Amino acid sequence: MRSGRENRVGIRPPGVCGAGHDGLNGAVSGDRCMRLDVGDWLDGLEGLAYFVGPSGAVVACGERNLRRFALENGAPELADPSAVIGRNILDFVEGDEVRNAYRGFLDTLLNDKSRAISFLFRCDAPNMRRDLRMGMSVVRSRGETRGVLFHSTTLKTTTRLPVRIFDFKKHRVVASALDDPRAVRMCSFCQKLAGPGLDPSIAENWVDGSRYGGAAAVQAPIQHDVCPPCHHQWVDTLLPRGSGKKLTPRQIDILRQLCQGHSNKIIAYRLGTTENTVKTHLKEIFKRIGARNRAEAVRLAFKTWPDFKET
Ligand SMILES: [Zn+2]
Repeated sequence: MRSGRENRVGIRPPGVCGAGHDGLNGAVSGDRCMRLDVGDWLDGLEGLAYFVGPSGAVVACGERNLRRFALENGAPELADPSAVIGRNILDFVEGDEVRNAYRGFLDTLLNDKSRAISFLFRCDAPNMRRDLRMGMSVVRSRGETRGVLFHSTTLKTTTRLPVRIFDFKKHRVVASALDDPRAVRMCSFCQKLAGPGLDPSIAENWVDGSRYGGAAAVQAPIQHDVCPPCHHQWVDTLLPRGSGKKLTPRQIDILRQLCQGHSNKIIAYRLGTTENTVKTHLKEIFKRIGARNRAEAVRLAFKTWPDFKET
């Protein structure tokens, strides 16, 4: 309980700082009163906030929120700001694909190709679905880029039941009997299961974990994974698309024919060339537009050239 005296000291009229400067009068006293460091600003933001310098190193962070987030997520080693400040922000991003995406974003922002980038992402726990938003904004001062503000806020949390698929005792028996115990993979996002340890006949069919039979049915080590639909929704959409190189007129023509549903053989015949040449062209086209296969190339092509369907 605070004493009345402390309360009186704590409350100041607006515009007057603790040292007695009148914040409303004169730039000098105003400047002195308003000297807050970047960490103070970041701590005032909701959620996790970092300021990253042009080299990618974390310069400052919102310490209070960092501490709370680290402890809530079982990472006490990150609760101390000195474990974070000075390190490259990419050191905290897991997975090559996602790290490449972040590297691309940083490059885009630091080279003034964009002022801000934002996206939705998920960071789930076994009993919790968490939807978050990441915003990255360039901080400029006196005409120079000083760094990037990373700011993530939680939009929604939904509790969910952990799927009971792991029976430690059974797993120990199975593991000791097999040289190479086959794994079951679990999608961290939707909790579906796949893998030869589940049933070799449905190894790549992701099935609902809670309906599969639970701990009685799954007797293999569990690996965390992300199923293709969740991967598409939460990872692919983050990745910068393609090499960015423009397509040549010849490549556009081939892509148009692909969209019309023609096989390599027919495309080769129509262009008076060989199937191998068409294949080589397609490979380069896929690389340039960021497609992994024909279906994706067609889907992406229609976004740019909606008229490609017509013959
Ligand atoms: Zn999934």
